[in-house]
Amino acid sequence: MKIPFNKPYLTGKELEYISEAHALRHLSGDGVFSKRCHRWLEEQSGCQKALLTHSCTTALEMAALLIDTQPGDEVIMPAFTFVSTANAFVLRGGIPVFVDIREDTLNIDETKIEEAITDKTRAIVVVHYAGVACEMDIIMAIANRYNLMVVEDNAQGIMATYKGRPLGSFGQFSALSFHETKNLNSGEGGALLINDPRFAERAEIIREKGTNRSRFFRGEVDKYTWVDIGSSYLPSELTAAFLWAQFEHAEEITHRRLALWHTYHTALEDLEAEEILRRPIISEEAGINGHIYYVLLPSIEERTRFIDYLKSRDIGAVFHYLPLQDSPAGRLYGRAHGALPVTCSTSDRLVRLPMWIGLEEVMDTVIGEIYNAVSHLRGR
Ligand SMILES: *Cc1c(COP(=O)(O)O)cnc(C)c1O
Repeated sequence: MKIPFNKPYLTGKELEYISEAHALRHLSGDGVFSKRCHRWLEEQSGCQKALLTHSCTTALEMAALLIDTQPGDEVIMPAFTFVSTANAFVLRGGIPVFVDIREDTLNIDETKIEEAITDKTRAIVVVHYAGVACEMDIIMAIANRYNLMVVEDNAQGIMATYKGRPLGSFGQFSALSFHETKNLNSGEGGALLINDPRFAERAEIIREKGTNRSRFFRGEVDKYTWVDIGSSYLPSELTAAFLWAQFEHAEEITHRRLALWHTYHTALEDLEAEEILRRPIISEEAGINGHIYYVLLPSIEERTRFIDYLKSRDIGAVFHYLPLQDSPAGRLYGRAHGALPVTCSTSDRLVRLPMWIGLEEVMDTVIGEIYNAVSHLRGR
């Protein structure tokens, strides 16, 4: 593919920091680079504690442990999301209860949450799709009224905001991803942010195999021991060193992605006016981070032909989530609250356009080919 869908960005400092970590001879987790990353995340988000993990998936698994998900507990979430949002809770015996998404933002429809609550409901998991904020004021008010936990799957939302406040700072917990497809990356990587201080100590323990090893290293206890269930959720210093290079350029990376996002948005305005496609809708409350630029086509057939046309021109454009409630594991372990027409329709019609730093140089080609693809769809 000459113009791929994604190209992970390298700042140029990654190998230098890895060799620094190597020279320090502290290669396991929580050395100087991990600590720098933790501090940066805490300052960026205002969270009580940030902990690097191997992935967003494992950060969500930690959240499922921290909220004490018990077999049969229900967790309300959208079905238009990555499998890990649901799977993390299913591993603890939880039952994902899928509600529909909004037509405009493609985020969980906050007006459908309350009717899905039962006496088994334990938590609401929100996903800020494409780094566009969910309606957090309303969602937090519902959670408080019913005494539910809120976990933000903020895999896509680093540096994005809701009413000026960073995404990931609203729920008791939030999970970030640093997978190579995300805005800031370390190949594989993630972080759990803890906003509610009551959970900070247990989060450290769960991440360190159920031991109080973190307290031991701080000199708070004179030996460490097995105190709770847990696993090994901390990445090595090599990963943290790589990630630190990305954090240092977070502003610039976000800025450059946003410029690409706005280029698409302006260039495709006419096609929206002609009702050939729909562009993303961003509410006034949402400050975005240029994670994804998507368009919605009228039908799955047109979407498929659109993707195939771009592929024939060596341009990578891709669809996104298959509705979780219709997947084999989703049917087995979860349930849908009512019909999910917006989820199904969005899944059929959405296509993500190439988005990576460096795309600037070929942006004219990409936009030209999008117009050609549209002419092709209309048989002209
Ligand atoms: C990417 C992504 C994940 C998974 O992230 P990993 O770091 O690969 O585990 C989870 N949820 C959402 C919404 C994502 O976009």
